[in-house]
Amino acid sequence: MQTIYLDNNATTQVASEVISEMLPYFQNYYGNPSSMHTFGGQIKKKIEEARQKVAELIGAHNKEILFTSCGTESDNTAIMSALLSYPEKKHIITSRVEHPAVKNVCEHMSKNGYRVTYIPVDSKGRLDLDFLYSQLTDDTSIVSIMWANNETGVLFPIEEIAKKVKEKGILFHTDAVQAVGKIPINLKDSGVDMLSISGHKIHAPKGVGALYIKRGTKFAPFLIGGHQESGRRGGTENVASIIGFGKACELSKNLLYEMDTKVKKLRDKLEEGILKRIPKVIINGDTKNRLPNTLNVSFEYVEGESILLHMNEYNICASSGSACTSGSLEPSHVLRAMGVPFTAAHGSIRFSLSNYNKEEEIDFVMQKLPEIINKLRSMSPFWKEL
Ligand code: PLP
Repeated sequence: MQTIYLDNNATTQVASEVISEMLPYFQNYYGNPSSMHTFGGQIKKKIEEARQKVAELIGAHNKEILFTSCGTESDNTAIMSALLSYPEKKHIITSRVEHPAVKNVCEHMSKNGYRVTYIPVDSKGRLDLDFLYSQLTDDTSIVSIMWANNETGVLFPIEEIAKKVKEKGILFHTDAVQAVGKIPINLKDSGVDMLSISGHKIHAPKGVGALYIKRGTKFAPFLIGGHQESGRRGGTENVASIIGFGKACELSKNLLYEMDTKVKKLRDKLEEGILKRIPKVIINGDTKNRLPNTLNVSFEYVEGESILLHMNEYNICASSGSACTSGSLEPSHVLRAMGVPFTAAHGSIRFSLSNYNKEEEIDFVMQKLPEIINKLRSMSPFWKEL
């Protein structure tokens, strides 16, 4: 049975073009880019070409791209750099629905003398912008707001927020790990100071990412060591992955149109099929302002984990909106922040598509899913009482 992979916000398959581009850098050109000899030194040029490709995907200058090991490192670097660069400022602003890569750094810093303001969202996952703007103070060191939510796909008006934050002279960072490669992004003339990207969400391998740092932004390195990355991140470069990441950015740029047409159509087909064939479902998040590949749906009176296990029998991969912590299934902090009712939050599933998905796969999911939900509901005491 073939795998039907609808979990692309978790990670993506590495594009074959990316693998081909990377392979020579394991066995043939394995030198250290910092070496004086040509064998190693020539690799520097390839890294710079990759940097240019990453920059082009987001409308940045190549000097504004810092290679990192992942989206998490990019997020950590951005926030810690701001705090180190402005040590007198002790206030951080972020949203209630950030990925743990931002959320947990903020929580950590709140135990280390920082005040953190979490901006709430409404039932559709939309940010309370007026509250955000009212919280900007002279003591605010950084505002970190994600571009697209990984669970619901809801997009935040980042350009507008960045502009307002910059008017107050405050640093603005956005975690764009889910947005890059799915929607067009052009940082030219934007107020964004720092932006995080992760390779493995856009068909590059795991273990490579980037942080955009606008020219002129005060910066303090997170990894202290050698002089790599112009002294902004110590550590020998992950050469093959960086080169693969560059290729993935080039491919993503060319596939943005397909994302907004083919992929979106498939996602909408799945959503329409679910709404038509399965009663008592709720689509989570602002459907008018969402990533083209993401669908977060709650099937009331069933457990997300049970749905995943049943789909797994047909090799259908997706994610659930709850995490098993200390033996109890806790709905995700994102769905909780949106006030999704308990019975719905527990039965939430995230489907996330990519350019590799095909219509037959969606048809197959729609053949199996109503049957799975019916079966699970028939076993639920709550469903019978309705
Ligand atoms: N930020 C968001 C919004 C994400 O979805 C993820 C990964 O799921 C990350 C950050 C972390 O990225 P990485 O897995 O590359 O560390």
